[in-house]
Amino acid sequence: MELPTFKYSPNAYDIDVFIKEEGTCSVCNLKRGMKYTGSFYSIEEPEYICPWCIQDGSASKKYDGEFNDYAGIEGISANPSIPNSLNMDKESLLEVSERTPSYISWQQEAWLSHCNEPCAFIGYADSEMIKPYLDELKEDIEVNIGYDPEFVQNNLTTDGSLVGYLFQCIHCGRHRLHADCD
Ligand SMILES: [Zn+2]
Ligand SMILES: [Zn+2]
Repeated sequence: MELPTFKYSPNAYDIDVFIKEEGTCSVCNLKRGMKYTGSFYSIEEPEYICPWCIQDGSASKKYDGEFNDYAGIEGISANPSIPNSLNMDKESLLEVSERTPSYISWQQEAWLSHCNEPCAFIGYADSEMIKPYLDELKEDIEVNIGYDPEFVQNNLTTDGSLVGYLFQCIHCGRHRLHADCD
């Protein structure tokens, strides 16, 4: 059976948040071969979540949980009474928090936005991988990330102590970068 795809995480099966493991999904009770191992914020901890139950929202609904912190989406205020500053469509925000697999990060994950919509998470990025996009990433590297820009540019790794997280706008194609340290 073909695995479900995710609009905001097109490479979801290549970013270490799923493992091939036979089991019964705690949500749909079907025998599955792909288990989600990324973060899921809920009171109860489900044993096994399959990608289908992420995509259709049933895992989030059953456990009242989030895969990605709603307030961690760029442009969202942590205070729900203040409207989000980028005026983004609520449905796309909920798709990120409730129906999109997370990615692995040192700190609480952030989800970048562009063109009034959450970006797609492309993958982990090291210094070499961001080279073609340095112009697009300038503002993120120099202002938003908050570490020494030169250090970020030269010491980014995909799995070391300073990890880069590459996003891409689903409208204009612009790349965005987030980074954090252990
Ligand atoms: Zn399932
Ligand atoms: Zn854009």
